[in-house]
Amino acid sequence: MTKTLFTNVKIFDGTGSAPFAGEVLVEGNRIASVTKGKNEAPLKDAKIIDGGGATLMPGLVNAHCHMSYTGPERMSDIPPEEHTLITMHNAKTILDCGVTAAVGAGAAKPRLDIVVRNEINAGRIPGPRYLACTPEITVTSGLGDVRQTHAYHNDLSLYADGPDHIRRACRELVREGVDVIKLMISGDHLVPAMCDAEQLAMDDDEVAAGARVAKQRGRKLAAHARNSESIKLCVKHGIELVFHATLADEESLDLLEKNKDRFWVVPAIGFTHATAYEAGDHGFPLETAKEMGFVRELEIGAETLTKMHARGIKVLPFGDYGFGWTPHHTMARDFGHFANYLGMKPAEILRAATLYGAQAFGKPDELGCVAPGCLADLIMIDGDPLADLTLFLDPAKILMIMKDGVYHKAPTQRRSERIPAAAE
Ligand SMILES: [Zn+2]
Repeated sequence: MTKTLFTNVKIFDGTGSAPFAGEVLVEGNRIASVTKGKNEAPLKDAKIIDGGGATLMPGLVNAHCHMSYTGPERMSDIPPEEHTLITMHNAKTILDCGVTAAVGAGAAKPRLDIVVRNEINAGRIPGPRYLACTPEITVTSGLGDVRQTHAYHNDLSLYADGPDHIRRACRELVREGVDVIKLMISGDHLVPAMCDAEQLAMDDDEVAAGARVAKQRGRKLAAHARNSESIKLCVKHGIELVFHATLADEESLDLLEKNKDRFWVVPAIGFTHATAYEAGDHGFPLETAKEMGFVRELEIGAETLTKMHARGIKVLPFGDYGFGWTPHHTMARDFGHFANYLGMKPAEILRAATLYGAQAFGKPDELGCVAPGCLADLIMIDGDPLADLTLFLDPAKILMIMKDGVYHKAPTQRRSERIPAAAE
């Protein structure tokens, strides 16, 4: 069994506690020991990696990942063959960011997530651990319905109306091999005339049908749920991954707080920020973004999500990266957004990006942690990420990426003049 000892590193263990100087021994695909200080002598059979004072931490977990999303063209115009290749490339890009596990949040075509996950799992292509998702299942006139009465179109969604149709769609995708079922329960600012962010798109019996298939077949559930009524349906039907939730009222916040160990909110606030202020070249000049409500949504969302965090509801970074104005490699910008808009402390943000992400992924005791017995999904950062959250945006600062005990990026030699962590 391969043994690797990371020495002379500062360890951020995912819990949010202050990093400490120490050593981590990896045996095979698991962490065998974590020790404070420097004790490398008895471990002559291990390959020793001197981190030169770098920070060793759990790989990041993205709990709202659209691996197949790409910009700037209409995704439905991309043939499945090209789209599969794009999704494969995105998988590598996401792992290059230090994201070693990700929960699918909607695939652009029914089998993209599934086949790419299978290739990753077979070890034939690089990518994070991945839970493959259905396309976004939406009702007629819900977010994503781009059809016209005289012509059929599709972009990203799978259309289904009524419990029977939804049940069938979910069962078909279970047959194909999805891990996650995604339902579009609320509307959105993107389609104000059809189904606004304040409106419900799906009825209770439709949500119930999708949720029941997921429960019967042991799949995860995720939902687009911007407003309070949609959040209540998530709680009622056990939809554990609540996306957006930016318009939650006090009653739905109470519900989420009461059930905070069973639900994870992944707001994708980076998407709202980018659509409000940075998407002028993509059809959203500031005036349009204002008119559509994105600027206001950002303000209200910041307020709501700040309250959620204060109540102990788990609010996670990442989400909705992959569009032309939110490219995948910029997903760690969410850390800055969480600091600015939610007032979260760096240690809280990184705990949400690791430990809480692992809970949302469904491996709470094996991922998102640096502790004996955890899976060896580890990254090494050049510097102190708690002092500078932008380090994750610079590939050169991500010195090492290990997934399941295997390097995706072997350790980069740090500059020798650095002061060892143990002496600091
Ligand atoms: Zn999304």
